Amino acid sequence: MKPTHIEHIGIAVLSLEESIPYYEKVLGLECYAIEEVADQKVRTAFFRVGDTKIELLESTDPDGPIGKFIEKKGPGFHHIAFAMEQVGEALKHAADQGVRLIDEVPRPGAEGLQIGFLHPKSTQGVLTEFCGNE
Ligand code: ZN
Repeated sequence: MKPTHIEHIGIAVLSLEESIPYYEKVLGLECYAIEEVADQKVRTAFFRVGDTKIELLESTDPDGPIGKFIEKKGPGFHHIAFAMEQVGEALKHAADQGVRLIDEVPRPGAEGLQIGFLHPKSTQGVLTEFCGNE
């Protein structure tokens, strides 16, 4: 039950339009997708860095999770996502170790992947996502 790689790093931003040029012009990355995840009240932009992606998260609703996060902490690092072959099993394994879960079972996330979050109170303050095809 271990991650194959870091699938992505999630970064909360005030505006995709204002943030994308930094990643493209300064870092030389290419934004290959912009996607709204209505469920999560966010718009996301993706960049590939090797096997890992950068996921920028812009809130579409001040009461959504990213809206609330930015209000509390400001823009910046939001979460780390580990690629897991079986997200459901990985969530169960974490729960068995006493980790508090945000998602008891996987749910659909961006890019057609199944995702599930662990609670940052159980992960030394780092909001942690598992992410995979099943
Ligand atoms: Zn994510």
